[in-house]
Amino acid sequence: YDDRDGKIWMDGTLVEWRDAKVHVLTHALHYASSVFEGERCYNGKIFKSREHSERLLKSGELLDMQIPYTVDQIEEAKYAMLKANGWTDAYVRAVAFRGAGEDMGVSAARNKVQLVVAGWEWGAYYGSAKMEGAKLGISKWKRPSPETIPSQAKAAGLYMICTMSKHDAEAKGFSDAMMLDYRGYVAEATGANLFFVKNGEVHTPKADCFLNGITRQTVIAMLREQGVTVHERHILPEELDGFEQCWLTGTAAECTPVSQIGDHTFEVGDLTRKVTADYEALVRA
Ligand code: PMP
Repeated sequence: YDDRDGKIWMDGTLVEWRDAKVHVLTHALHYASSVFEGERCYNGKIFKSREHSERLLKSGELLDMQIPYTVDQIEEAKYAMLKANGWTDAYVRAVAFRGAGEDMGVSAARNKVQLVVAGWEWGAYYGSAKMEGAKLGISKWKRPSPETIPSQAKAAGLYMICTMSKHDAEAKGFSDAMMLDYRGYVAEATGANLFFVKNGEVHTPKADCFLNGITRQTVIAMLREQGVTVHERHILPEELDGFEQCWLTGTAAECTPVSQIGDHTFEVGDLTRKVTADYEALVRA
């Protein structure tokens, strides 16, 4: 991703893509002092843009890291980056991290917090699985307790086990992995939240130790407005057999049907198709 044409917004200025560099002693590279956002721009408008900028600042706070920009300034940066690249439809990646500087150790309160906003064109996250249904393996790694890590932050450190889980799943022929949480409840995929359908009602894991996705919240609100009952609750893996349909939600994943988790299979049913279509219409509205 480093060798291409384009512009990246870096600490207040637009720089050439190839020149958007950091030093090898960047604190974040050694100690994961990094938080980020993934957003999608549709027809020139970033869906839930301010919510994403607010979450970025919140993630920074949760990591005791003051990001030196306001929501309005982050909004400006994102649109400046999109304009400089001539994009109306793109994925937007903002990342804030502790840079190289005064200190090089666990403590680095004096190191400047940098902000970078990049973007790229990104189609369906699960490729052709988008309509046929993604197949998920089950990871051996568990989402950690909120007492061990700030689990509501979209922080780089929380993704170490996601990358390992996804690599393992892909090597076995799956699109992604489902992760359980530290108590053994069903949690989420490595970059998306999970929903299940049983007897016309929707069940989704309670987001008490993993990211309560903006897409997740959007889809829950959309379903409830349509009169569909949504249960946010602890779900045991033993319950998977009783669910008829399943889908994933996330900014990158949007709504993606799931046809299999481990040995359990799901139909890509009417409600799954409707949610997928309704979400697509909403983000472009
Ligand atoms: N969980 C994880 C681990 C994620 O990386 C994402 C993507 N940001 C989500 C859930 C979904 O969040 P959102 O809908 O806000 O993109």
